Amino acid sequence: MLGDARIGTPASRAQLERAHDAAYLEQLASLHSVTWLDPDTVAGPTSWEAARLAAGCAIEAVDSGGFALVRPPGHHALPERAMGFCLLGNVAVAARHAQDALGCERVAIVDWDVHHGNGTEAIFRGDDSVLVVSLHEWPFYPGTGGPGTSDETTLNIPLPAGAGDDEYLAAFTELVEPAVAAFDPHLVLVAAGFDAHADDPLAHMQVTERGFEELARRSAQLGPRCAAVLEGGYNLETLPRLVEAAIRGFDSA
Ligand SMILES: [Zn+2]
Repeated sequence: MLGDARIGTPASRAQLERAHDAAYLEQLASLHSVTWLDPDTVAGPTSWEAARLAAGCAIEAVDSGGFALVRPPGHHALPERAMGFCLLGNVAVAARHAQDALGCERVAIVDWDVHHGNGTEAIFRGDDSVLVVSLHEWPFYPGTGGPGTSDETTLNIPLPAGAGDDEYLAAFTELVEPAVAAFDPHLVLVAAGFDAHADDPLAHMQVTERGFEELARRSAQLGPRCAAVLEGGYNLETLPRLVEAAIRGFDSA
């Protein structure tokens, strides 16, 4: 389905230290046995390489304007620990790379994974060079991102269970597009999770394939350049065509 896909290269320790504590990276690098890092997140001796590859692909997506199709996902990873299937903040590492290596001073992150991107928020909270937007089911895991948690450069959009294309696209029109336009980013980085799909087993939203295509199209229109990184999406029957729909959307912007 993805004829022009290619394999990326791992992120360097220096690239990862832009978003994570050195001591935590050392812990990941030195895992010698299977270890539960939090109640949802298991890792072992090969996880360091997998996580560095995921972050490295996110960096390459920023360089090329592409879509990093990676696991493990990243948006729950905190500066100092793993959380919610996430080891490294792939999008956060990529955003810092865009700032430090590509001169993209202002980066807008738009996260439409069904869960709140609490790790990304924790990494950039109080940093006025990165706007972090998250649309998510609420109340729901991880429990953060509820009403009243937005600030100058944090926009949390909690949506009730059962929301679908209409609610997501209305939130884009009323909240996301004005906020990102006012921020005037040099790069839009999409944390593209597909677990808000109607058939996803982990959540309770009703977004359709067509809805993801439109979310992607409208995300790519938010700035002069755009890249995307895969986050969640747990129905392996539907995930390939949802990714394909998003790529159609990004390409048609
Ligand atoms: Zn998710």
